[in-house]
Amino acid sequence: MNFTCPICLDKIQIFYYKSKNCNCNIRYHNECVIKWHKISKTCIYCGKKINIDLNKIRNKYYEYIVIILNLIIILFYYLFYYLFYYLFCI
Ligand SMILES: [Zn+2]
Ligand SMILES: [Zn+2]
Repeated sequence: MNFTCPICLDKIQIFYYKSKNCNCNIRYHNECVIKWHKISKTCIYCGKKINIDLNKIRNKYYEYIVIILNLIIILFYYLFYYLFYYLFCI
């Protein structure tokens, strides 16, 4: 499945926004739809009004970042744990 964002014409991979108010079935990048929503509050194809909850998109986006950050912290914790273990216990 290859989806391209109609705003920047780049490929969409993981994070995307899909309009629920019209049947165009277009996927946008979260960042692109936030930029677009500041200029126009209509669908880029059919011109139908779309109500985008920007905070909801941002929260969804940051949720993934928080999960990734937590994983990095856990990884570093184990890294240091083993480092200290080898330094002081052997
Ligand atoms: Zn885009
Ligand atoms: Zn539309």
